[in-house]
Amino acid sequence: MIPPIASTFVAGETPADALEHVRTLNEREVAGILNLLGEHYEDPSDATADTNAYVELIDSIAASDLDACISVKPSQIGLGVDEETFERNLIEIVDYGANRGVFVWVDMEDHTTTDATLDAYEALVRRHGGGAGVCLQANLERTREDLERLADVPGKVRLVKGAYDEPEEIAYTDKDRVDEVYRELVEYMFESFDDGIAIGSHDPAAVARARELHQIHGTPYEIQMLTGVRTDAQYELAAQGVDVYQYVPYGSRWLSYFYRRVRERRENLTFALRAILS
Ligand code: FAD
Repeated sequence: MIPPIASTFVAGETPADALEHVRTLNEREVAGILNLLGEHYEDPSDATADTNAYVELIDSIAASDLDACISVKPSQIGLGVDEETFERNLIEIVDYGANRGVFVWVDMEDHTTTDATLDAYEALVRRHGGGAGVCLQANLERTREDLERLADVPGKVRLVKGAYDEPEEIAYTDKDRVDEVYRELVEYMFESFDDGIAIGSHDPAAVARARELHQIHGTPYEIQMLTGVRTDAQYELAAQGVDVYQYVPYGSRWLSYFYRRVRERRENLTFALRAILS
C-alpha cells in the first residue's frame, strides 16, 4: 500500500489504478504517460519481469479507449545488466507498442547511461521511422550536441532540466544557469525540429515561452508534467487547446521516485503533507 505521503505523486500500486487515473485525466483532455516504478536492476529476471509488465500494459492500453502512452527507464529494462539486455528489451517493448499504436518514451537516467541510451534509441527509431521518444537533460553540457544529433532523426524528444546530481565537470550545477540553458535549448528545438518536441517542465516561464515559439515557428509541441504537480495548470492548458500529457508513475517501488521529487523541491514535502491533512 502506498503511504499517503507518497500518493500525491504516485497513481496507485496496480496497472488498473494507473489506468483509472488516466481515465480521469482524459475527461479533462489530458493524456497519460504511464510509468511502472522500478530502476537499477542488476538481475536480468527483474528486467524481464518489468519488460513483460510493460507488454501487458500496452495490451491494456490498446484494448481501452484511453489516450495514453508509456515511459520506461533504461536501468529498469536491463541497462544495469548489460547493454545487450537493455537493447533487446527496449526493442521488444517498442515493437510491441508500434504494432498496437502505443507510443513508447525512454526516460534518461544519470550521465553514465546517456551514450548507451541514445545509441539504442537512435538505432531503433531509425529502423521504425518513429514510434518512440527519448528524454534529454538541460543540466548536462553535452545536451546541445545530443539535440543536434537527434534533430533529423525520427521520433520525439522530451527536454527536461534534469533530476540527477551530476559532477560539475560535465554539468551545469547552478540552478539559474540550468534555467537559462533550458530556455536556449527550447528555442533551438523549436527552430530545428520539425515535429516531436515535448517540454517536460512545470516552469510557467518555460511553458509560456513554448507557446510563443509555437506561434513563431509553427512547430508542433506538447507540454508534459508530473502527477501531483500543477494539476490545475495542466487542465487549464488542455482546455486552451494545448497538447498536455501527465507522467503517471505507479507501482510499489515508489520510495526513490518520491525522494527525487522532494530533493528537487522541498515544498513538495509540505505540499504532500498538506494534502494528507486536508
Ligand atoms: P523547476 O525549476 O523545478 O521549477 C520551476 C517552476 O515550476 C517553479 O518555480 C514553480 O513555479 C513551478 N513548480 C515546480 N514544481 C512545483 C510544484 N510541486 N508545485 C507548484 N509549482 C511547481 N528528469 C530526468 O532526469 N530524466 C527524465 O527522464 C525525466 N522525465 C521527466 C518527465 C516529465 C514529464 C517531467 C515533468 C519531468 C521529468 N524529469 C526527468 C524531471 C525533471 O528533470 C525536473 O527534475 C523536474 O521536472 C523539475 O524541473 P521543472 O522544469 O519542473 O522546474
